[in-house]
Amino acid sequence: MVDLTTARETLRHVFGHEDFRGLQADVIAEVLEGRDVMAVLPTGGGKSFCYQIPAMLRPGVGLVVSPLIALMQDQVASLRAAGVAAGRLDSTLDRDARRECLNAARDGKLDLLYVSPEALFAQGFLDFLEQCPIALFAIDEAHCVSQWGHDFRPDYRALGRLAELFPNVPRMAVTATADLKTQADIRTQLRLEHAKSFIASFDRSNLVLSAERKSAKPQDRIVDLVRARRGKSGIIYAATRDNVDKLAASLQNLNVPALAYHAGLDASLRAERQHKFQEEDDVVMVATIAFGMGVDKPDVRYVIHADSPKSIEAYWQEVGRGGRDGETAEGFCIYSASDLRRSVMFASQSGASEQVKAVQVKKARQLFAYLDGLTCRRAGVRRYFGEEGVEPCGVCDICTDPPVSIDATELAAKAISAVMRMDQRVGRGRVVNHLLGKAGDEIDQRYASRTTFGIGADQHESVWRNVIEHLLFEGVLSEGEDERPTLSIGDDEAVREIFRKKRIVRIREAAKSTRRSKQERRASRDAKGAAKSGFTGTDATLFEALRSWRRDAAQTQGVPPYVILHDATLAAIVSAKPSDLGELGKVPGIGEAKLKKYGAEVLAVVIAGC
Ligand code: ADP
Ligand code: ZN
Repeated sequence: MVDLTTARETLRHVFGHEDFRGLQADVIAEVLEGRDVMAVLPTGGGKSFCYQIPAMLRPGVGLVVSPLIALMQDQVASLRAAGVAAGRLDSTLDRDARRECLNAARDGKLDLLYVSPEALFAQGFLDFLEQCPIALFAIDEAHCVSQWGHDFRPDYRALGRLAELFPNVPRMAVTATADLKTQADIRTQLRLEHAKSFIASFDRSNLVLSAERKSAKPQDRIVDLVRARRGKSGIIYAATRDNVDKLAASLQNLNVPALAYHAGLDASLRAERQHKFQEEDDVVMVATIAFGMGVDKPDVRYVIHADSPKSIEAYWQEVGRGGRDGETAEGFCIYSASDLRRSVMFASQSGASEQVKAVQVKKARQLFAYLDGLTCRRAGVRRYFGEEGVEPCGVCDICTDPPVSIDATELAAKAISAVMRMDQRVGRGRVVNHLLGKAGDEIDQRYASRTTFGIGADQHESVWRNVIEHLLFEGVLSEGEDERPTLSIGDDEAVREIFRKKRIVRIREAAKSTRRSKQERRASRDAKGAAKSGFTGTDATLFEALRSWRRDAAQTQGVPPYVILHDATLAAIVSAKPSDLGELGKVPGIGEAKLKKYGAEVLAVVIAGC
């Protein structure tokens, strides 16, 4: 029976890594016992080894189901480079290559075989598999099986059948992103009800996050943010190719080394730009979400969303590309009600079923409620992914400069009434003018006799815009999909509750943009201390002492600090406060080699600091 020690040796010999990270060892131990597993590990958490290593160690071939051909190609190439017998079956393969691959699998010469879901269920393939020794099934990107997920793929549904077809083969569902509902759905759909779950923390203690509404000149804001970070590597996500090109051009005009990246560009040009970004220190990549897969540059110092992402899942994946090295990285998300409208429009124009569309719209609204809300950025995301007992991060915009909120229930009721009295046929500008008692053109005049005309004259225009935007984010109001969208009622039940004061509407007192500069100064000042988040008092001091030791060790060895020990490991040491090598060795992230190499020094720091 192979055990974890053998697995660790494989990790060292084949992949050259010292030890398992986070939950890898636990997941691998479970599969090596032949049991099913469900694992949710954040991007960069090292999901691949969780199935690759057991597939190599168990007899037979490990089948990896993956929805993305490019991802399969990447993984197979890097496995082969490490000397692992890996192959893939997808639509790009010709007949000979296919036959060769199948023969190798049947003869037990393959450790890993990557397949798309279509290829798995293609005629004859399952029969073929019956004759093969199979080490395991790994279902990568398992959230695709769920209609609650943010990336539903109907052909993933059939994967549940593997449970009956291969009852004795361990099956693994792995994903980097699944909210609670999606996790439950993955279990049911993939028939993994009994499988042990491994849910990693989604915390990224080195990320300093903030979000703000778009100002009148959003592009200027982005340019300012980038200029203040000259010489650093960053990613800017924009929603459309057009926005990407414009932003990149305006940065280039200011001599910022910015590159544009989107699906409209030639593949070779994209590859070239990705390479340049990866290799150079100070490149700013302006991109659509086409940019991301396979990006593992460790020192991306900031990620800016020039337009809002699609969901909290997408936000976390995208902003998570910053700070992979464990050092501080900043995330700025800039959003507006028209971004929300775009998300809703995309969702409703997709070819998905009504149910899936409804989930996508809901996810978009959850994102906006989060962005525009009053909850710590990091804590909000972690709770969304099902973590419990989460503490505020202490360094985000909400934590450092808590927005003042006011009870706007009555204002909301007035705004909704105006929308209704104007027959749900006009846009935001007209509704605001109507509330203020202003009637310009003929259309405005038409509604001037209604009872809601002028009922909001005691408030500033910006208050009304704020209230309406907030009601849009919450889904109480909704906006049409054309260029000059009309406002209508989005949720009748919510409207009734607001009128009866059963539902309280709280909004931020002022538009965020007016408070930015002060807050931003504060955020960047606090950025340095970001990593100590979560600790106070002597624990914080100990954490800093460990970091300082690590910096010195890294410098001496000429390696980046995270190569010595990860931040998460340092944090675990602070929590455990080991008093001898035995206890230190139990801290996750400390393998034998690291214990031997650094154990005494780390203990000395801990003992001095306690
Ligand atoms: P994910 O798919 O979870 O985003 P990957 O499996 O691609 O992550 O791993 C991310 C990176 O981390 C890869 O470069 C991988 O080699 C590295 N990695 C994974 N596990 C370890 C480990 N235990 N020690 C060192 N590096 C690791
Ligand atoms: Zn916070």
